[in-house]
Amino acid sequence: MFTTQTGPQPADLADVRATNLAVVLRFVRAHAPCSRADIAASTGLNKATVSSLVAELLDRRLVRETGLAENRIGRPATMLVVDGAPYAAIGLEVSIDELTVVAVDLAGAELLSWRRAFDGSSASPGRAVSAIAALAGRAVNRVGNHGREVLGLTVAVPGLVDPSGTVRLATTLGWRDLPLGADLRRALRDPGYEVVVDNDANLAALAEYRHGPYAGTANLVHLTGGAGLGAGVVADGRLLRGGRGFAGELGHVPVVADGPLCPCGRRGCLEVVAGIPALIRRALPDAAEDGPVTDFAPEVDRIRTKARRGDRATLDALAETGRHLGRAVALLANLVNPEVVLLGGYFATLAPWLLPAAEAELHAHTLAAEAGGARLLASALGTGAAAAGGAARTLETVDAGRLPLRDPARGTARDPGPAARVSRKTPTRSSSTPGDPEPEASAETATSGPQVSAPPDPRPSDASRQPAGQR
Ligand SMILES: [Zn+2]
Repeated sequence: MFTTQTGPQPADLADVRATNLAVVLRFVRAHAPCSRADIAASTGLNKATVSSLVAELLDRRLVRETGLAENRIGRPATMLVVDGAPYAAIGLEVSIDELTVVAVDLAGAELLSWRRAFDGSSASPGRAVSAIAALAGRAVNRVGNHGREVLGLTVAVPGLVDPSGTVRLATTLGWRDLPLGADLRRALRDPGYEVVVDNDANLAALAEYRHGPYAGTANLVHLTGGAGLGAGVVADGRLLRGGRGFAGELGHVPVVADGPLCPCGRRGCLEVVAGIPALIRRALPDAAEDGPVTDFAPEVDRIRTKARRGDRATLDALAETGRHLGRAVALLANLVNPEVVLLGGYFATLAPWLLPAAEAELHAHTLAAEAGGARLLASALGTGAAAAGGAARTLETVDAGRLPLRDPARGTARDPGPAARVSRKTPTRSSSTPGDPEPEASAETATSGPQVSAPPDPRPSDASRQPAGQR
């Protein structure tokens, strides 16, 4: 997969080297701290090649040395870890009630996590773009002030996003054919880093795949739990995108004949009977007395408080939502046989009351025994999962071989050319610290996440399947 024994043409040598650099970087990410000898022993690259590759990664400040290993037989070895310091990746999540931005370093350690109230239901697309660009710009400035190079900005949107970064349809936000990627690049004055727009459920699933307790699970689903209800599906270790990138719109599966009107124009979609606004209407009939609910968090808190007190109507409303979710998850269980299905967003905080009814429906409506082994669980990533996934997407591109090149004269990263078409998802950890802007945390670059074994053959990463215009 990464040897030069097949007689490459001269033009291929740069690609082979880029591929091998990525192989070494991924190995260090997964196994740090590790020595050059560890890398050679595990990758099959010879020691001289590994030394040369490590020297280049050190030079580019993608890895760094941490000192000598202890308790080793023979000569002590210098150990290597991913160098998080020079770079940052930014993810920004657009929800109907808030914007969340997260920045991580190259090692995956969180640098900042900010939330801003955002009234997505009434903001015009133009104002929305301005608000998104302003928050992204502040995050870029913050990490830049700490001497970091921004490798990419990925914006997560609840809706259909085409590969060019145009939001074809976001029903909860009322957006149609909004060229968000192009508008953001313009608003950010054509920045040197890539700006990518993607579906929020897809990015949240990517975050689950890289971080947290279910990292590396080859078949997992993340259900977003906000005004929208989307499914990010990882099947056989790859994000399921579909022909035009529109896969996973579970929220618009019809579940109630002649049911309530959905913002998409149809009736009885899952989203309008099981989304958070429907739950709030059911559990808190007084919530909309003073106008539509635009900030869900306080209402979800009220629902939780009433559920804890054992309020019958609240428990019934939660159980009804749980039953709808369970039947929808059974659909997924029958189609893609996931190992874990993670309830995200606000659903995660309500999981203790949603899960019993949801599990019962899941098991009742899945053909395979025990729901085909699917476990329905609360996501551990909180409401910023898609933002974390946006940052993770950029790290994916680096791991896939799109290594930044430091240009000492300009202090900027340059695109090194074609990405090496190998990928392995490697989990890293970052604590989620929602809150207002705060000084950048000092982030040590320990990469202590669980290890995931590499697939036997190279496959294009999710990122490397993005068309060139989006990268
Ligand atoms: Zn619908």
